[in-house]
Amino acid sequence: MILSFFQNACILIASMSAVQHFIRNKKISRDISSKRKISWGIYNGILGIILMISSVPITADTFIDFRYIAILLSSFYGGILSSIISSILIGVFRFFYLGISNVSLIALIGSLLIGVGFGIIALLKLSKKSKYIYSMLFFIIISVISSFILAKNSVVVVKAVILYYSGYLIVSYLSIKYAEYIVETVKIYQRLKNEATKDYLTGLNNVRQFDNSFNNISQMIIRKEEELSMLFIDVDFFKKINDTYGHDAGDAILKGLAPIFLNTCRSYDVVSRMGGEEFSIILLDCSESKAVKIAERLRKNVENNDFYISDDKTIKITISIGISSYPRLTSQIDNLLENADIALYEAKNTGRNKVVLFNNEKYNA
Ligand code: GH3
Ligand code: MG
Ligand code: MG
Repeated sequence: MILSFFQNACILIASMSAVQHFIRNKKISRDISSKRKISWGIYNGILGIILMISSVPITADTFIDFRYIAILLSSFYGGILSSIISSILIGVFRFFYLGISNVSLIALIGSLLIGVGFGIIALLKLSKKSKYIYSMLFFIIISVISSFILAKNSVVVVKAVILYYSGYLIVSYLSIKYAEYIVETVKIYQRLKNEATKDYLTGLNNVRQFDNSFNNISQMIIRKEEELSMLFIDVDFFKKINDTYGHDAGDAILKGLAPIFLNTCRSYDVVSRMGGEEFSIILLDCSESKAVKIAERLRKNVENNDFYISDDKTIKITISIGISSYPRLTSQIDNLLENADIALYEAKNTGRNKVVLFNNEKYNA
């Protein structure tokens, strides 16, 4: 039986490590979608079934395994919906697995009660520690009642039950601690990943991420023989804004620009802050004429926007945009950024608050 317990604990830990891999890039928050709650419930239901079938029965129709820890994890991280789904899967499987009998029926009812009970405890506004203690108390009460109903050989049952509860308490406590450790590790991983790829002020891609994205995108564009356009954007007279209203006001403007850029282009375009008050947008599968339209829309949206620099003060700003486009106006894809910068320079020199398209022939003339 000890070996059976150990085997069960190993399966539990291995499954939790697998979860760590799957949730690595998922948003970790308290409000998870119903779809994820259902998936989590099914996952733990299957885990409970695996735990059940890999345990050694202590009598012909009595199993001792950690299937209820799967329901506990379900309720802790998915709430009542997940825990009920897990308990139904486990209970129904148990009911048919060993043939329909009184024992199976009581195991099914016990499983459902535990699923609902754990789910209700998870709903309560309690600390994790209290939820754990109440869940374990509830679990012990239900199991003791069902053991007494089913007891045929009470000595075997009492011996098993004592071992069972001590094993359960140790393994369930370690599982919850391990789950907390996983969540913490995933959060740290996501934060570090975010900090390595995103600009801290605007939340847009940083230069490193721009380079990565541009390398991947340009290879794909060449392979698929598609068009690619690049916008290079610079805020006009930004130094003057900083000098007049202060550095914090400048920061507020940079922050305010990010949603305008993101909302004006398409979801798959890559918007990055290149440093200071300079931004770039990689426009995928986009010709120069479409790029000019997007850039004009962007310029107007910025010009018409009121930027809050404090709670009650707004100011207007303008931007200049240089555009380059592959393959018609820039034959070497690697020159896109440089050519967009040349066009931006011309926009600055010819009045600002305007869009200039890089034209190979003009600049080579
Ligand atoms: P132009 O129209 O020719 O682009 O003029 P400009 O004043 O916008 O350009 P310039 O390059 O002279 O000034 C850019 C300023 O941006 C200078 C720098 O202090 C400021 N800046 C750079 N990074 C930040 C930042 O993160 N926050 C704030 N508030 N200002 C920044
Ligand atoms: Mg600049
Ligand atoms: Mg500027």
